[in-house]
Amino acid sequence: MSTPDRRWHEAARCRGADPGLFFPAQGGSVRAAKRLCAACPVRRDCLAEALGSGEAYGVWGGTSEQDRRALRGAGAGTGGRR
Ligand code: SF4
Repeated sequence: MSTPDRRWHEAARCRGADPGLFFPAQGGSVRAAKRLCAACPVRRDCLAEALGSGEAYGVWGGTSEQDRRALRGAGAGTGGRR
């Protein structure tokens, strides 16, 4: 069993950002988080990890919980990293 390569975390645009932006209270806006993600150099790695691990909460790789549910329904995430 190999350990996932998490070096991409070092380049994450959200390092030091308010976690509340990425995990808003129910009904809260994810716009600010998605704006950060849009300019993040490791967005693809982040999304692949979130999809691969079945991350249910928060904004990852520019996607909300609902976005990832839709992607999983469309078959994305199969064959990603991990
Ligand atoms: S894509 Fe978004 S959540 Fe993922 S590391 Fe970049 S800024 Fe953070």
